[in-house]
Amino acid sequence: MIVIMNPNASARQISDVIARIRAMGYEVHISEGEQQTIIGVIGRGRPLDREQLSTMDGVHDVLAVTHPYKIASRMYHPENTQIPLGAMTVGSKELAIIAGPCSVEGREQIIEIAHAVREAGATALRGGAFKPRTSPYSFQGMGEEGLRYLAEAREQTGLPIVTEVMDPNLVPMVCEYADVLQIGARNMQNYTLLNAVGQSQHTVLLKRGMSSTIEELLMAAEYILSHGNMRVMVCERGIRTYETETRNTFDINAIPAIKSLSHLPVIADPSHGTGKWEYVESVSMAAIAAGADGLILEVHQTPETASSDGRQSLKPERFARLVSRIRKLGEVVDRVVPQPLPEMTRP
Ligand code: PEP
Ligand code: MN
Repeated sequence: MIVIMNPNASARQISDVIARIRAMGYEVHISEGEQQTIIGVIGRGRPLDREQLSTMDGVHDVLAVTHPYKIASRMYHPENTQIPLGAMTVGSKELAIIAGPCSVEGREQIIEIAHAVREAGATALRGGAFKPRTSPYSFQGMGEEGLRYLAEAREQTGLPIVTEVMDPNLVPMVCEYADVLQIGARNMQNYTLLNAVGQSQHTVLLKRGMSSTIEELLMAAEYILSHGNMRVMVCERGIRTYETETRNTFDINAIPAIKSLSHLPVIADPSHGTGKWEYVESVSMAAIAAGADGLILEVHQTPETASSDGRQSLKPERFARLVSRIRKLGEVVDRVVPQPLPEMTRP
């Protein structure tokens, strides 16, 4: 249930409605829009008397939210959620371009890629220090050492860091280094982890599970939002289908669908969505044309020697070409790729 207040409702009228809802045993989540305040009613108290609420002063309408997710729904929050990330704002006209290797492999490696992607137009740096690998024998990531190198790369380039956290106990430690906590596809329904990143109040990039529906993805986002952490971006990274030619099937439909159902920014991951670097540029163009708020792309200086996901990693020159094509496409879809940041330091 949501209570839509009149555009000119007074603070007193709003607080009276909140008090009434709480008295009925429910929790409230407030969305203060440009036009009006919307009060989300969450929980299971005494049966809600819709009539009683709709006759209160300042109330415009009381509506049942038909989706199981509430705070994630566009009904509750009609405007796009905007999230600051470094020098730009995700969910605005500006497109987020998050780029870097699948895994942090060493100090020189991550610092070199960070400079290369910054020059090519990246707005944030990605790199996994904790890697969720299908095989226990594959490279598992450099752990905290990798996070230290990422922080050094940020110091030199000014690019904010996006990196995965897999363990709820490590959320505070990863928060010390990361600007954005990535929740990987394999952990999309790890509720202990979702609760921990929700409590952290840190910005989160939540990836769609490989066999998850859009509704399940938005329910996972709801876990994080329910802790009052509104800084959530969701990521379409491809799902498993009958097709075996590509690693996953990038679900282009998910982009307009999520944008219509939810106010959360949508980031597209054509690297994992295709699994082959040759297709990454085309699918990136398609994702931005479909309304994505940004891209997350794997870039590696020598993909053939990468510790993980080399097959889908772009070389820096290819990445630069992709960004310049996205910039041109932006003119058609009314989006912009922010200009590269001035360099901070270079060794
Ligand atoms: C990654 O971003 O490198 C990754 C492991 O992604 P996903 O969780 O989408 O497979
Ligand atoms: Mn990867």
